[in-house]
Amino acid sequence: MARIVMKFGGTSVATVERIRQAARHVKREVDAGNQVTVVVSAMSGKTNELVGWVNESSKLHDAREYDAVVASGEQVTAGLMAIVLSEMGIESRSFQGWQVPIRTDDAHGAARIVEIDPTELDKRMTEGWVPVVTGFQGIAPSGRITTLGRGGSDTSAVAIAAAVSADRCDIYTDVDGVYTTDPRIDPKARRLNRIAFEEMLEMASLGAKVLMIRSVEMAMAYKVRLVVRSTFDDPDAPQIAPDGTPGVPGTLVCDEDEIMEKQIVSGVTLAKAEAKITLRDVKDKPGVAAAVFGALADESIVVDMIVQNISDDGSVTDITFTVPDSEYDKSVKALEAARASGIIEYQRVTGSKGGAKVSVVGVGMRNHAGVAASMFKALADKGINIQLITTSEIKTSVLIDDEYAELAVRALHTYYGLDKPGA
Ligand code: ASP
Ligand code: MG
Repeated sequence: MARIVMKFGGTSVATVERIRQAARHVKREVDAGNQVTVVVSAMSGKTNELVGWVNESSKLHDAREYDAVVASGEQVTAGLMAIVLSEMGIESRSFQGWQVPIRTDDAHGAARIVEIDPTELDKRMTEGWVPVVTGFQGIAPSGRITTLGRGGSDTSAVAIAAAVSADRCDIYTDVDGVYTTDPRIDPKARRLNRIAFEEMLEMASLGAKVLMIRSVEMAMAYKVRLVVRSTFDDPDAPQIAPDGTPGVPGTLVCDEDEIMEKQIVSGVTLAKAEAKITLRDVKDKPGVAAAVFGALADESIVVDMIVQNISDDGSVTDITFTVPDSEYDKSVKALEAARASGIIEYQRVTGSKGGAKVSVVGVGMRNHAGVAASMFKALADKGINIQLITTSEIKTSVLIDDEYAELAVRALHTYYGLDKPGA
């Protein structure tokens, strides 16, 4: 017997018919003798609609009322799921965040979970019930409803799994796992059997959209094993793991130690719409970088890649960095304002939007020299020019011209042996 948290995303609960399909997966686990807590998102599109209504009512709305409105989508699906499960003969009850309770801080619209009391969920599961919990929401110290930020129901599910010491947190979605790269870019993309938390974290930050970043961080911190799998698979089919053995179909996101064959590169990601900004002839003295990036941070602009040159005579230098295209104008303005008020000194700011960041990720990189060099060679062989580079222990990223983005992804996918089955 296992204890499982089963989370269903928006497309999995988009209609009552789909909720029924999702409920059949729950029934399978319950029939197998497992204890289950279900976590649901709102019906797909619902949260957007609710946010739209809030903004239509007033651009300057109170964040507490935003939360009161947008949290309602999950209330509907939790209730419907409990009704459908009950109709299938499974004892089920819905719970909203405050009823569990899921305690958060008071950052309305982007709250963080502080604590989850597992008592009620524990009791229900032990008695053979299936609690259905609303994802995405909790309760502030003030007693008001909070929401966790868009896509937050993955985080709810992982936090609940940690709180009830679940053996697994199954994330049911509209894809059947995590892929070596986006199959729409490279048809040779394959589903991974396993991926390490750290790799998943990098891939999520680099643009893979299967899981919300914060949920992966939490899973890694609390060692919650995640499975990404599809709701649209036949719930009654035998459960076969990707390696052909009986088990859970999908991709297991787990501790590195659970992965025997570590690939040097597990995945190739692509993020488009990356803008590049260069500050020319920046006064080179201690505190300059802090001032430049402080000015951007004050505007809540998230900077990604950073390159600073060493100046010949130690007087001036160039600093180049990337931000999302959508933050380009705001960034340039912030830098100009910082210069006008004497916080930083530079000659001029130049830049362009529309770059593409291609990255290779893999925990195996730690023990292999020359991964970056081989990546640059693979790109050079295709005539692709590299504009910026950043590396971490398990990742190498390059900024290139958007025009070559797809070609680069496919070239690297082949180069690192990801086309072949079995990786
Ligand atoms: N319904 C929320 C949203 O759309 C939370 C989620 O689906 O994860 O952002
Ligand atoms: Mg989601």
